[in-house]
Amino acid sequence: MCVEIKHQCQGGHESAQFSNLDNVLPASVINKVYCPECQDKPEFDAATMLADNGWIIEYDMELATYLLEKHGIDKEVITPEFLFDSRYSTWQGMSPTDMAESIRERQEIVALAKVDKMKYIETLKSWSIDRMKAFTEAGWRKAQQVSA
Ligand SMILES: [Zn+2]
Repeated sequence: MCVEIKHQCQGGHESAQFSNLDNVLPASVINKVYCPECQDKPEFDAATMLADNGWIIEYDMELATYLLEKHGIDKEVITPEFLFDSRYSTWQGMSPTDMAESIRERQEIVALAKVDKMKYIETLKSWSIDRMKAFTEAGWRKAQQVSA
């Protein structure tokens, strides 16, 4: 079970949706989030931060390390990349705004179902394929892993 976690970027432009695997890590493991439009970004620190397509996540690595060690995970492997790639604290979906966009776009397609059922199924199928392709091409980290 993953609880929905929303975290607004530092500049207040957008809200990023996270998913923390099995809630091993609480929402507070995400210290700060910077969207591409955020001003005054800190200097990138690979020890606490993960960059993805213009976004930066700053984790509370002290808290993450403490909790993950209790889960039997070796301290040496606990890095921001590890948190993100092992889904302990990662985007919900492929990007920070994937879920919100997906719900909105899906609603438009669902409206089709009432008019033309076959067209609806086809559209839904090609929509999810096209979306995935767009994420991969845009360079989102999670989309690269899926295609790799
Ligand atoms: Zn921002």
